[in-house]
Amino acid sequence: MRVALKDGADVAGFRAAVRRLMAAHVRPEQAGWEIGAAAGFDFGGGQEADEAPPVSLPRTAADLIDMVVCHSDPEKYALLYTLVWRLTHGERGLMEVMSDPLVNRLSLMGKTIKRDLHKMHAFVRFRQVEGEDRFVAWFEPDHFIIEATAGFFVDRFRALHWTILTPKGSLYWDRSNLRVGPPGRREDAPETDAFEAGWRGYYESTFNPARTNVAAMRQHMPKKYWRNMNETKSIPQLVREAELRVERMIEMEAQMSARRNPDKAMADMFEQGPKSLNALNELIGKSEPLVEGGSEKAVLGEGPMHPAIAFVGEQPGDQEDLQGRPFVGPAGQLLMRAMEEAGIEREKAYVTNAVKHFKFVRRGKLLLHQTPTATEVKHYRWWLEKELDFVDPGIVVTLGATAAAAMEGKAIAVTKNRGPRTFGERRGFITVHPSYLLRIPDADAKEQAYRDFVADLKQVNELAGKAA
Ligand code: URA
Repeated sequence: MRVALKDGADVAGFRAAVRRLMAAHVRPEQAGWEIGAAAGFDFGGGQEADEAPPVSLPRTAADLIDMVVCHSDPEKYALLYTLVWRLTHGERGLMEVMSDPLVNRLSLMGKTIKRDLHKMHAFVRFRQVEGEDRFVAWFEPDHFIIEATAGFFVDRFRALHWTILTPKGSLYWDRSNLRVGPPGRREDAPETDAFEAGWRGYYESTFNPARTNVAAMRQHMPKKYWRNMNETKSIPQLVREAELRVERMIEMEAQMSARRNPDKAMADMFEQGPKSLNALNELIGKSEPLVEGGSEKAVLGEGPMHPAIAFVGEQPGDQEDLQGRPFVGPAGQLLMRAMEEAGIEREKAYVTNAVKHFKFVRRGKLLLHQTPTATEVKHYRWWLEKELDFVDPGIVVTLGATAAAAMEGKAIAVTKNRGPRTFGERRGFITVHPSYLLRIPDADAKEQAYRDFVADLKQVNELAGKAA
């Protein structure tokens, strides 16, 4: 009985085939699998896939199937179907029997796919198409993993327009839709771009000659990927010069008190993305609003680097949008007054917003503020986290529910959690938004709420002073 599946990783085709084969009691040795021919079945009398009942499998088996389907070994479907058959015919606990040759072989295939995914995540290098806001990467995975990896790149580079070309298929992301296309050609990806020099410079500065271990480097970064990665162009020379540089480093080390974190440097090296606040801001500046109905211009954070305190608001209002600066409208003025009373100097604090574009609806001449949705706030989290990494404040103060949710990673009640808090590794403080104070109608209640707000900021100032 012949089952034909599409080229590559035909997950849906395989699932449908399994349902039909199982419903028709076809044993593994009776099924012949073909790849690349027109998809279809020729075992007459079988039920349609959507009529065939689903097959229940242990979670570990279902996860393994999703991985192994991406493998380039043409035997994968026959092996997987044998696994499904055995799991559903008296060997429910088979996944735990690692000594079983089939389980063992499939587990190794699954691990190979995981490694291939990891390599693609780490080694894809985008280059900008000259004169356009579009980025293209060329990559050569060993297996059919592009669809499995798509979510990772969409999440990471959601605000950019990009394409990943591979000999096994291509991914296109236009900031809102993902398309999977036919294999691409290396010549269609730019060879170099304006970021190249900067990226290489960065790599050279994080390359630690005292830790040069060419064998380990090859293992983590196999040579076949080197030619697609700018930084690797520097490796041969860096290795040659390593000894000399160690001497120079030892000399320099003696004069330097800077903190070192080689693991972070290594992690950063693998991370594609802006390497300074300016580069990050340039990207936000070019990005389209990630809120529906957002104004075109991004309002960026403002203030010194490494401040004692950073304030995070919700989003720019109409005044901020007009002037291109955060917290310059009525809520901002109230915040500045409260900061002054609490002894916090404006010039020494950093102010920014969770969402960088003003979201509004137009009512005649008025632009009415709209609260961003949880998903919209999530879209901006990458920017905010990166921004705070660069700015590196002593304490992060969230103003209102949107900022608190952005830092927390999920909705959090402001009144209940008002006060000191940690956001991941960052020291933080949750308080109300100044525009909430502006909206309180009763004068006494308003004054009291303002006093409480100033008391919060005093506590923040004390905490920041202790941390310094
Ligand atoms: N409200 C905010 O949350 N941020 C601003 O920049 C202005 C008003």
